[in-house]
Amino acid sequence: MFSFFKNWNRDRVLRKHRIPDDLWKALIGEVRAARHLSVIDIDRLRDTAALFLYEKSIEPAQGLVITDAMQARIACEAAIPVLNLGLIYYRLWYSVIVYPEAFVARDVYVDEAGVLHTQPSTRMGEAWSRGPVIISWEDVVSHPAGSNVIIHEMAHKLDMLDGVANGRPPMQPGMDQYHWTVAFSEAFAVHTAQVEAGYPTEIDAYAAKSPAEFFAVTSEVFFETPRVLQSVWPEVYKQLALYYRQRP
Ligand SMILES: [Zn+2]
Repeated sequence: MFSFFKNWNRDRVLRKHRIPDDLWKALIGEVRAARHLSVIDIDRLRDTAALFLYEKSIEPAQGLVITDAMQARIACEAAIPVLNLGLIYYRLWYSVIVYPEAFVARDVYVDEAGVLHTQPSTRMGEAWSRGPVIISWEDVVSHPAGSNVIIHEMAHKLDMLDGVANGRPPMQPGMDQYHWTVAFSEAFAVHTAQVEAGYPTEIDAYAAKSPAEFFAVTSEVFFETPRVLQSVWPEVYKQLALYYRQRP
């Protein structure tokens, strides 16, 4: 009975809030991370994006004017990681705040003497635990191959589902946490050593910042340039394919 009402409500929302044909057709060709999807999957993505817009609030910052096309683009990219998982994976938070371009946040840290400092830091995106996702619109529309600020921040949200951003989201049924930990910790250790030694790396050096950033950055590469991840870290690709239930 519960699933009957759930489906009825879903159909009702989709009838009323479907993303219009012209908007969808104009945007889907721009979304590199959706290229691996079949025609049927693209239709499901459109539904998931519409439901995302129904459930979440997309809020402008610094005077940005957000059009329907911008909302649809954000929802489409946010829907990609959870296409085969469901929007339940984005529970416990409500809004996406959109800045026109990279924004300045304040990093807080304690030095060796125990003194608290704050320093400005420029960001393309941010995900707060149980709070909003913040993104820079400029970085949504223009980004280098392999990067995707929306997928990056959504990966942090998935990681935080068990309360801690540690680079290991709650495993899917049937997944073995041991295999995940081995694949990710080996790749992270090698990547960090390469970055510290000043070697050029195929995966963004930023991934060396922490295991949480490594998961978010490899999730971007998984959807944007999957062949790169498959050749550099095949075991990480395999674990992400099991986690996201997709094989880009
Ligand atoms: Zn991050």
